Amino acid sequence: MRDTIMKTLSHQRTGMVITFLLSEKWRMIFSMNDEHYWDTLFEKMEHAVQEHGGGLPSISLIARQADSPYRILISTLISLRTKDEVTLEASARLFSLADTPGSMLLLPQERIEQAIYPAGFYRTKASNILKISRILLEKHAGAVPADQQQLLALPGVGIKTANLTLNLGFSIEAICVDTHVHRISNRMGWISTRTPEESERALQSVMPRRYWIPLNELLVTYGQRICTPVSPFCSRCPVRECCAQIGVDRFR
Ligand code: SF4
Repeated sequence: MRDTIMKTLSHQRTGMVITFLLSEKWRMIFSMNDEHYWDTLFEKMEHAVQEHGGGLPSISLIARQADSPYRILISTLISLRTKDEVTLEASARLFSLADTPGSMLLLPQERIEQAIYPAGFYRTKASNILKISRILLEKHAGAVPADQQQLLALPGVGIKTANLTLNLGFSIEAICVDTHVHRISNRMGWISTRTPEESERALQSVMPRRYWIPLNELLVTYGQRICTPVSPFCSRCPVRECCAQIGVDRFR
């Protein structure tokens, strides 16, 4: 069945240029160095997400509620290994108590733990939230730094948290690779990588910069609604004709 959908698939690498040879419909635009390829993909995927009731990811919603890089940083930290709905509620509870480094430091750690429970690793996260707040006050005049290296130096902050904070807090182009971005980019055949860190570098080399920020938001919702981790809904996927379906053994 996949053969009938995909017809022919091959990746031809010539320097940084990757060409996909697929169905007639897509053949004309199938060059990943062609911005029209990405425009078309994003448009179709966004439309499909809307059609299937996809809302915004939790951190995007939080970013729209207030212009606060601190809220984005802290809620992204809370979101790690935690479901979206839990992140939203836990963040709202915490920010009703404190949403600046100074006010956060007035809270005992146990109070923060209670507020963000049942987020995964809530005790460690509460401890890191206090440590981060202290460092921001002592080293950054109470502000979140708009710099990847300085963000990565904060306790509990990895590349995903740093890049999402840069994206949503400062509109700085950086590719935030979470589990959905890593999985879908590899399934589609845009890249061939083993880890999110490799994916970030690989995506930088194939994707136009103007898509670096919206990529995460789109693929998170796409990964929740259509290209799900187990048995993706390929039958409802509007970009299946240009998807290599790499590693997909079962689909609906
Ligand atoms: S849903 Fe299927 S066809 Fe669509 S991107 Fe995912 S694996 Fe590819």
